[in-house]
Amino acid sequence: MDAVDVPALRRRWESVRERLAESLRRAGRAPQDVALIAVSKLHSAGEVAAVAAMGQVDFGENYVQEACGKQEELALHPACRAMRWHFIGHLQSRKAAQVAGRFALVHTVDSRRLAEALEKRAAALGTVQPVLIQVNIGAEPQKSGVMEDGLPALAEAVCALPHLDLQGLMCLPPVFDNGPLARPHFARLRELRDALRPLTGLPLLHLSMGMSGDFEEAVLEGATLIRVGTDIFGPRPPKTLA
Ligand SMILES: *Cc1c(COP(=O)(O)O)cnc(C)c1O
Repeated sequence: MDAVDVPALRRRWESVRERLAESLRRAGRAPQDVALIAVSKLHSAGEVAAVAAMGQVDFGENYVQEACGKQEELALHPACRAMRWHFIGHLQSRKAAQVAGRFALVHTVDSRRLAEALEKRAAALGTVQPVLIQVNIGAEPQKSGVMEDGLPALAEAVCALPHLDLQGLMCLPPVFDNGPLARPHFARLRELRDALRPLTGLPLLHLSMGMSGDFEEAVLEGATLIRVGTDIFGPRPPKTLA
């Protein structure tokens, strides 16, 4: 594994944890109510292992091949025994079979077709795959996620699949690095979740929202999972074609 600047990683990770603790205090919420997911896409397995050794448990990955490679590389690493992997990237149905059963939570279900592909694989493995539905909260044509008006039908379809466990919603707001502007979108995701509870009869505990530039506002609006990359690992190296 490449040389890793452990002191720099530790400083950044601790600073994110302090910001999270401060926003929890401001929101009057308990520390165990929000999990910090360290988003490690395009960073090395060595960096992931270093952050895991500090006590970080949840890690998020965006690209199937890269994520599975890191999982294999770290499977026997002593610091990584308690790790939980989250799939947070756009997922094509044809790659669903590589994801089901390998991630503690898939955040990005946004179509019936993808849900059915995950269901098929989870059933074959004899497991239940926890999932979130990704909502296109800003109704942006170029972004993934189900549109608001399609959400109830998709939630009902996911609930009907016995090997998927729908646990909540995820979003990427249409503004980047601006917490005050993102905040109404986080509030909207919470409202959508609240409205789905009676429809599905499920607790839908999770709201996956908030990144490096806006997680404090997400915590104030009820996030239970925040996804932080840059502020833990530093700037991402460019994506090379695998
Ligand atoms: C990359 C990524 C993040 C982390 O973004 P940062 O701004 O680096 O914290 C969070 N969520 C998703 C879906 C991502 O793709």
